[in-house]
Parts: sequence; structure tokens; C-alpha cells
Amino acid sequence: MNFGPNVTVLTVPMLSPVMGPTVIYPVLLKDGDGLTLIDTGMFGQYDSLVQAILQAGEQLSSIKRIILTHQDIDHIGNLPVLVREIPGVQLFAHPGDIPVISGSESMLKMTPERITGMPQAFQEQINAFLEQLTQLGEITELHDGDQLPWGGGAEVIHTPGHTPGHICLYLPQEKLLLAADELRVADGRLAGPAESATPDMPLALRSLRKLDGLPVQSIVCYHGGRYDGSPQVLIDSLAGGL
Ligand SMILES: [Zn+2]
Repeated sequence: MNFGPNVTVLTVPMLSPVMGPTVIYPVLLKDGDGLTLIDTGMFGQYDSLVQAILQAGEQLSSIKRIILTHQDIDHIGNLPVLVREIPGVQLFAHPGDIPVISGSESMLKMTPERITGMPQAFQEQINAFLEQLTQLGEITELHDGDQLPWGGGAEVIHTPGHTPGHICLYLPQEKLLLAADELRVADGRLAGPAESATPDMPLALRSLRKLDGLPVQSIVCYHGGRYDGSPQVLIDSLAGGL
């Protein structure tokens, strides 16, 4: 799915231990100097991501940088293998989640306690994955209000609550909001962050206010995909009075 010449939304099948078989929507921003990948898919499901990139007519080797919208395992899951496969790829994330993405702090949701309760084979895989996070190299900080030059221009909007360092990206040229997990599409309807996966729901709802007044024509949610329309009515109903 494309939004103009600069934005391609990937459709990647995902097998989630929590949600079962589902689909996620990482995004490629295209520029003269290469591709920017936004989020990397579920850990252990690298082939699905690569296939989606090839199906979009793009090459892995054209990826110059990776933006992580937040620390969750279905977003950073293929980061270690991508860093190995693409020499020199640059990484970007909000400082609120960098300690987790770089392996120096435990994940907020896939906690050591939770991992201990998983089947042995899964424990070994995820512990190997967490170990690899410590070898990613430098992650450049993205901050609220940063204007990124890629994909025709993208603004960083820090929307904590789902995780401390969660970000959305707004692309004014396409009037497109990449909402990551701050919004979802469920049964064709726009919805707020998933309560079961959002440790600080009041903060996540207050963060919706940062999207107030944005001229949005379309939204891409990592879970649920494309929604055509503005989020304003939903924001007012979920965050009214906040
Ligand atoms: Zn997610």
C-alpha cells in the first residue's frame, strides 16, 4: 500500500503468542539516498519481513536507517538480524525506550518473570535475542518535535503511555499519521491503545492530546493498518477533559 511516491506500508503476517495469527504494518520511507524502515516485526519472524520488502519491489540492501517507534518485541524483534544483514544501517529511537532497545534494561512487558514462565525453547530463543540487543551499536535519539528529512519530511511526536519512549510520526506532505500503537484499527473502526498492552493508560490517553488539531487524512496503525479520516473525534471522546 502506497501513499504517494515516498511512503510504502508493508503488510507482514505475524504469529503472536498473545494475539495468534495476525498482520502488522511496518513502513518504508523512500528517498534518493535509500530507505528508512519504521519498525521491524516479530522476533523470530524475519523471513516474513524480508518477503514483504521484496513484494513491495524493494531491496534489503537499500535500507539505510531503522526507526523504532518503541521497545515492544513485535516492533524490535528483527532488529539484531537486520543490523547483521545491513552493514552500516543507522538506528533511531526515543531515549525513553533506548535503554531497553540497547539491552541495558529489561523489557517493560516481556519481563524476566514472564520469560521464566514460558516454554524452555522460547526462553532460550528470547534470552539469545536479548543478549544480541547489547551488540547493536549506537542508537541515535529522537525527540518530540524533531523534523526528520526522510519520506518528504516527518515530525516526531512523543506519545508515552504504551511505553515510556513511544513515538508517532506525522508526514505533513501526505497528511499521514503513522500512529504505531497509540491508535489501532479494529473491525474497521479507529480505537485507542490496547489496554492490556498499555501499562500507563492514563498517560497514553493524555498523549492523544498531542495529536490534537493535526490535519490528518489517513492513519496507519501497526495493528489494524490503514484508516482514512481524522482521529479528532476519537481523541475528543477518549481524552476529553484530559
Ligand atoms: Zn505492537
